[in-house]
Amino acid sequence: MKKKAAVSKSKAFSAFESVNFYLEKAFDFLGYNAPMRTLLKTPWREIQVIVPVRMDNGELRIFEGYRVQHSAARGPYKGGIRYHPETDLDDVRALSSLMSWKTALVNIPFGGAKGGVRCAPEKLSPRELQTLTRSYINNIQSVIGPYHDIPAPDVGTNSQVMAWIMDEYSITHGHTPAVVTGKPPALGGMKEREEATGRGVSLIAEMLCEDLKLSLSRATCAVQGFGNVGSHAARLLWEKGVKITAVSGKEGGLHNPKGLDIPDLLNHAAKGGLLTDYPEADVMTNEELLAAKCDILIPAALGNVLDKTNAKKVRARVILEGANGPTNPDADDIFAEKGVVVIPDILANAGGVIVSYFEWVQNIQQYSWEKYHINLELKKILTKAYQDMKQFSRKHKVSYRIASFILGVGRVAEAERLRGT
Ligand code: NAD
Repeated sequence: MKKKAAVSKSKAFSAFESVNFYLEKAFDFLGYNAPMRTLLKTPWREIQVIVPVRMDNGELRIFEGYRVQHSAARGPYKGGIRYHPETDLDDVRALSSLMSWKTALVNIPFGGAKGGVRCAPEKLSPRELQTLTRSYINNIQSVIGPYHDIPAPDVGTNSQVMAWIMDEYSITHGHTPAVVTGKPPALGGMKEREEATGRGVSLIAEMLCEDLKLSLSRATCAVQGFGNVGSHAARLLWEKGVKITAVSGKEGGLHNPKGLDIPDLLNHAAKGGLLTDYPEADVMTNEELLAAKCDILIPAALGNVLDKTNAKKVRARVILEGANGPTNPDADDIFAEKGVVVIPDILANAGGVIVSYFEWVQNIQQYSWEKYHINLELKKILTKAYQDMKQFSRKHKVSYRIASFILGVGRVAEAERLRGT
């Protein structure tokens, strides 16, 4: 019988509380006082807008949209736009904060932001999706811009949505490709952006496995979420010889201890097949996937999926956070006790924002780079950030997550200080 189960989100910590929990640990290490903590935790600006859409059946529906601009201390706000039925202000706030620490950790000249519309994009027709996107952008266009706030794709959005964003913004402001990244190549985007987050995950996996003396050709891996991040991470790791034994989507997951043929599975998905209908594997739930026996677990779907209940059951040696905020603080403590190595989201999934930075630079310069150059620069930036995190963690005996937060927070705080705050 087929099992169906989506990820259940932990209620013990809200997404924003989880981020702030880790931040407080970084603040303790850095010795910051209360006003400094408030300054760094609190978003500079939060916007909630209505998103009216005339549906195909003539009915008027009002959706809720958000853009949270967490910090622009180090450069223009930067962060994706999520279309998901459970998106709310707390989630977007947390994601915007993570972006500030991520851009600082990998040392690219951006701040942090995030946006979202509470909707189920798969239930909208292409026309309704376009109308919703234009309506949302129209209502936030006064606070975004190529030197101010630059959106990008996230869960439920893609390069087509980014194309509509660019077009809607350009109607009022003139042709402005640099207002958004993750666009289709024909509109100033880059083919490499689509796989960039997954490529970053695979590069970090490679560096980590080398440190752990775990050969890639012997490693096994389970990936939760087979969308942009999960599918590219799975494919790139498969290409490096890693055996991908389980993957899942919101419809459930599948499992084959001998290893899944990822290109064949991608073909199956591209033809519209459900993961759970793929013939060469057994069906498993998302919860079972998180507890699957494997070396590397990559949560690459939603946040807050690893909590104190299921963390005890995790059997992976390593967790690479492809998703933003997948591990809540209770689970993080359990992983530390069990000796599970966790590479935090702000490093593991930073490949996307790094290549977004390259796209923005190219749009501003009206010049395009070769593929080898993009991937070389991506590797250079990620390797430096990985080494910084590792050395800091060893020197100060803190976890990789706290080391990453301390490095990111320190850079944002320095920018604040130099600006005279
Ligand atoms: P996506 O929409 O392309 O894919 C999301 C995947 O998660 C799909 O396979 C979907 O079926 C699955 N999913 C959704 N709801 C689920 C549920 N309730 N239970 C189980 N699976 C579910 O999104 P994405 O862009 O791949 O983003 C995935 C994660 O990676 C998010 O946390 C996002 O914030 C993070 N992230 C994305 C990027 C990027 O460049 N797209 C960059 C950094 C971080």
